[in-house]
Amino acid sequence: MFKKDSQTPRSEVLQAAVLMEQKLRKHDHDRGPKGWKNDHPLCLFHRVKEEVCEAQEVVASDMPKAFPDSIGRKKLVDELVDVMNFCMMTIDQLGGLSDVELAVETEGGKVPFTEAAVMGSLDRLIIHWRDAKKDALAKKHDVMADMATHYIDAYQSVRVNLFGEALGG
Ligand SMILES: [Mg+2]
Repeated sequence: MFKKDSQTPRSEVLQAAVLMEQKLRKHDHDRGPKGWKNDHPLCLFHRVKEEVCEAQEVVASDMPKAFPDSIGRKKLVDELVDVMNFCMMTIDQLGGLSDVELAVETEGGKVPFTEAAVMGSLDRLIIHWRDAKKDALAKKHDVMADMATHYIDAYQSVRVNLFGEALGG
């Protein structure tokens, strides 16, 4: 059974992950898609501190006194996304991600490898992301809504490939 509320990340966590992924992809061509996998965790932790300093420099030099303007805010967000990415890489190289289950749970841990169970699992995922999309649209979270659309399309595509038809509704 898909447990929607147990480990499913809240929308802000998923949106932050989208920003992280967008930034990582900008460097795929020169660093490779998982370039940090050869780095020592302490070197990556040093990069976390460097990125925090870069964010601090933005606050010190580009922020107006009262509240961040749009340029300063964008620069600060950009540096904070770097911080998040180097945190993720450090945690990964420390082994901290290896036991983390992705937010798809099934009773007993795995989907039985039968036609009905696989189809049921796909359908629950499609329905989950449809709900997430509805929720995102209501909150005007465009990035989240787009991400939900991609998940829906991807799971529907797998469903069509395996069973010959998309989930209706
Ligand atoms: Mg930076």
